[in-house]
Amino acid sequence: MKRRQRYGERAVAEEGKKKRLSNQEIVLVTYVFLILFLIMIAFLAYFMYKKAPSYVNNPYNANRQAILEERYTRGDILSADRQVLATTVEEDGAEKRYYPYGEIFAHIVGYNGRGTSGIEQMENSSLLSSHNNPVEMFTNELLEKKNKGDMVVTTLLTDVQEAAFDGLGEMKGAVVAIEPSTGKIIAMVSKPCFDPNYISEIWDEIVSEEHSSEAVLVNRASQGLYPPGSTFKIVTLLELLRENPAMAEEFSYNCEGVYTEGQWSIKCAHDAEHGEQNLSEAFANSCNGAFVAIGRQLSFRNVYRLCDDLGFNSPLPTAFPSSRSRFTLKDDGDIGTVMQTSIGQGETLVTPLHMALIMSAIANKGKVMEPYVVDHVVSSQGNQVSSSSPRQWRRMMSEEEADQLSDYLRAAVTDGTGSAAQGEGYNVYGKTGTAEFNSSGDTHAWFVGYAERTANTPELVVCVLVENGQSGGDIAAPICRKVMDAYFGR
Ligand SMILES: [Zn+2]
Repeated sequence: MKRRQRYGERAVAEEGKKKRLSNQEIVLVTYVFLILFLIMIAFLAYFMYKKAPSYVNNPYNANRQAILEERYTRGDILSADRQVLATTVEEDGAEKRYYPYGEIFAHIVGYNGRGTSGIEQMENSSLLSSHNNPVEMFTNELLEKKNKGDMVVTTLLTDVQEAAFDGLGEMKGAVVAIEPSTGKIIAMVSKPCFDPNYISEIWDEIVSEEHSSEAVLVNRASQGLYPPGSTFKIVTLLELLRENPAMAEEFSYNCEGVYTEGQWSIKCAHDAEHGEQNLSEAFANSCNGAFVAIGRQLSFRNVYRLCDDLGFNSPLPTAFPSSRSRFTLKDDGDIGTVMQTSIGQGETLVTPLHMALIMSAIANKGKVMEPYVVDHVVSSQGNQVSSSSPRQWRRMMSEEEADQLSDYLRAAVTDGTGSAAQGEGYNVYGKTGTAEFNSSGDTHAWFVGYAERTANTPELVVCVLVENGQSGGDIAAPICRKVMDAYFGR
């Protein structure tokens, strides 16, 4: 009885303490609000008397950037492995944008100086705003000190980007590497390129009439449109598997180096004569004759529909500029055009990024994720501001179709034209392309493929396009290997 009473007394005492604590908390909260309120009033007053004129006197849109640049030091852009890709430094008392990697990330990170491009443009508002401690920011404003803008952390990996850049060497073209399960862009290179550190100095030259054919500022990976050549045989093959699986099963073609029908004839690349070919061999050897014969059996109304599923004639879901790939043939009318189209010539044009996305669908069981390059934004003090999460763009094909295609792609690397893409410690699935772009027989070189270290877990898609590179197998495939070696060798 006594014990219980004592317990009762203690409970009452505890209750009292709690009440006192609550009262203290209320007082604390009141003070916090009061302080915040005073800060707000002070900021309003400060804004009205000191800052407002500069807002009012300037036409809002034209000078908004300049006003923000007066208040914020443009934030940094980092790679996924936390290397600085763009930062702001002081030079002779003035702020200057500095790109430690020079040309290597030129197109995708972009420039800031002659307007903005790339990530500098996409994330302009993040880089010129700040989510640091508000009291500290306010104090800085009062002291007329600039606040440091937020930091953009990308999905790009420096060593993979460097491998792609070095792989292209002096050649013109593009390389793009994507993680198929998420859509993260791991590397994106376009050549010829420019050094964004000197954008103002070189501007007049690179936009001059004389250099217009070079199109230095164009990001060839996402904006360059090229005939797909033999990489399009992936599409022709998929349509055959859809439309006529029995024919796919029994397919046989005797290649004598040239396919002729009426006034039209198409030769196999590099004067090859492939002899007797089943479907897997014809794909692995990239036999033009066999694929023209297949194309002549297909309904091009259906091929057009398939191309629609694959994202031709549609904008790509990118936050940076990208071109629409083009597929125009809707019927089986003109035999010459059907023959050309079946092997990726004719009117068809694709971007390297789009080709990489089609390959991503095969690697990712038919589904394609939206490609993205900004992983997250943090304040310069490390407060998380926003982050990207992977999103599905579309389903391009069924899981079964993706599985079937991967068998053909594997054979093209183990027993076909893509052997130079195979490195050590991972398996590559891919397709070469050698695409004619003029009447003198000059060709662009393609390789598009994916790699995995363990079965059924594709990790990286790579697409390489070399302008006037002549041979997909000899020129583009080894660049792909360098990129994959860098990725898996990390
Ligand atoms: Zn052939």
